[in-house]
Amino acid sequence: MKKNILLIHTGGTISMELDSKTGGVILSAANPLALEIDNIQQFATITEVEAFNLPSPHITPEKMLELRVLLTKHVKNNPVDGVVITHGTDTLEETAYFLELSTNYDIPIVLTGAMRSSNEIGSDGVYNLMSAVRVAAADDANTKGVLVVLNDEIHTATNVTKTHSSSVSTFQSPQYGPIGIVTKSDIHFHHAPLSRTYLPVESISKKVAMFKIYAGMESDLLISISSLGYDGVVLEGLGQGNVPPALIVGIRHLLDQGLPVILVSRCFNGIAQDIYAYEGGGKMLKDMGVRFEHGLSGQKARLKLLLELCSV
Ligand code: ASP
Repeated sequence: MKKNILLIHTGGTISMELDSKTGGVILSAANPLALEIDNIQQFATITEVEAFNLPSPHITPEKMLELRVLLTKHVKNNPVDGVVITHGTDTLEETAYFLELSTNYDIPIVLTGAMRSSNEIGSDGVYNLMSAVRVAAADDANTKGVLVVLNDEIHTATNVTKTHSSSVSTFQSPQYGPIGIVTKSDIHFHHAPLSRTYLPVESISKKVAMFKIYAGMESDLLISISSLGYDGVVLEGLGQGNVPPALIVGIRHLLDQGLPVILVSRCFNGIAQDIYAYEGGGKMLKDMGVRFEHGLSGQKARLKLLLELCSV
């Protein structure tokens, strides 16, 4: 029996087209994916909703929350077997992770997008949408959390990141790899996530800053955020989780003000740990009260802290 899938569009290149006059990629007045739905209905019975039509750099945590509210309302009123969301690829991993943290469904929620717009040669949008629908309709996709499907690979929202500015194989999960693959005849899962964090959130009322740490960085920018109304900060530290010594004054200032300071590594493999005891080393930071967020990228650690602060 065919599964029922809720398909929510939010915009992005997958819903855009190339303007032959200017050579620019533009938002289409009518979603070009709508023309393909009859074809995709062979894999599932689709109910379509246009949530927004935005390029993904225009997506904010408030929009992510709006999407979560819309999704939960639909699923409550008309239970479905899975949800597919089309999204611009630039911030797709952030919306996926926001939904990973703020929902706790057993049914799959699958995000997909495209690197080439609808009328470009080699456009990957319809293919990725079809793959995402097939994954959302697969029994094995249940209880795997929020997934990201592009280019025949299935990734978790927690680990996936956009690694290339233009390649169709841009979405990768550094260190962990995909948890499954899409083939012509099947959906194969070869791994499953071990655990899931749930942070129910009803409003976005806090501000979290993020800094990539660099050689020679000083404390001035860090110190400024407490007077700018920020409620917490994520630092993408060096190597195993270290910062230049000149940052200690700024970090101490924020901790004294009661702001959580979260440390991840700016390396995209490995995790931040409290190893080095020198001035600015991870051990010193941990002793000061800096919290280590193991294995998350800066942008995901930032969303997690934001949701933690907003859900208390
Ligand atoms: N800039 C586009 C966006 O994120 C890229 C894409 O969708 O692939 O909306």
